[in-house]
Amino acid sequence: MILYRGQDLTSLFLKVPKSLTLDEKILLKEYYSEHKRGSFEAIINKEKILPFAACVLSHIGCDKEYWIHKHDSYLERNRKIKSIVDGVFLEMKTVGSKTLTLAENYGVVLLSNSCLGCFCSGDVDLYADPNEKEIIIKCLTDMGFLYENRSGRVSNYSEQVSMFFNPNKLNDGFWINILWTTTSRAFLIQEKYNERLAKERISAKQIDNSNIRVLSETSLMYFCALHIASGHYYTLSPGLRLYVDIDRLARAANIDWDLILKWVEEDEAGIRVQIVMYIAHKLFRTPVPSKVFNEIFNSRRNRIFINYLLKSDTKQIQSKSSRLKRLYVELASDGKSFFASILKRLRYYLKMHD
Ligand SMILES: [Zn+2]
Repeated sequence: MILYRGQDLTSLFLKVPKSLTLDEKILLKEYYSEHKRGSFEAIINKEKILPFAACVLSHIGCDKEYWIHKHDSYLERNRKIKSIVDGVFLEMKTVGSKTLTLAENYGVVLLSNSCLGCFCSGDVDLYADPNEKEIIIKCLTDMGFLYENRSGRVSNYSEQVSMFFNPNKLNDGFWINILWTTTSRAFLIQEKYNERLAKERISAKQIDNSNIRVLSETSLMYFCALHIASGHYYTLSPGLRLYVDIDRLARAANIDWDLILKWVEEDEAGIRVQIVMYIAHKLFRTPVPSKVFNEIFNSRRNRIFINYLLKSDTKQIQSKSSRLKRLYVELASDGKSFFASILKRLRYYLKMHD
């Protein structure tokens, strides 16, 4: 959190520089002028938003040369990532994998054609069908990736995600996560999400001049939102950086919002997608049509829930986590009474263990 004059500035440092208002630029400049560069850099490093802040600062003219240089180093790193990922897709094609699809943050950067320097995650996530698990693991290990088996950590974790590390790529090595389900969470009813993802993976798009495949814009938006809501409980680590995906995608692409709302109904996704879109709209002024989230405010329970996640006046998000808090978020996300939500889960687990 970057608290200044009663509000959290983090979201401003994560915005597309061009989307900042004059008032916001002045606020950021004032905040910056009150710090030594070194202490400021320590803050944005701690928040893990350095390339984004560097992008904004060079744009608004604070120590321009210095921050351009910083941002360029990420640009170079992220170009290397593109070539590594491209190589992976090329190899997968030769071994016959048809479902591998780039997901989430790096997928958004490429698909939305947004600033390639504004990406600092240490790993890249890909979706694939569990039927291809054997050939994908073999292909990646043949390419020099080490397979990390973390199945002991969470009960059915290895059925949800496999992690691969290549110590010889980039300076500190490079991680690839293959997601076999929509979200790697132990207790989430996600069968319908997974069915939809399997369908959408087939019609993935190829990124120009590469072998990289990404979900179509509308699908990627839908699955990013479900991932933020279910995998990160909306606002837990890495916090606001999650919403950069939603913002960049909404600004760049023609999103079919009606289709997204139809999928929400069909997949019984509750109010997860709507809340993610509301938070993006509120903090980043992301161009999301209000019809996407307006209706959730009709319920008092939803209003309390949103207020729990986000303090609108100070732009602070909920960052505390506990078992009880996560349970509350999970149940409240169904958009039903807690009783109905618990009953839904009971029925599901009874059916599973029949
Ligand atoms: Zn940038």
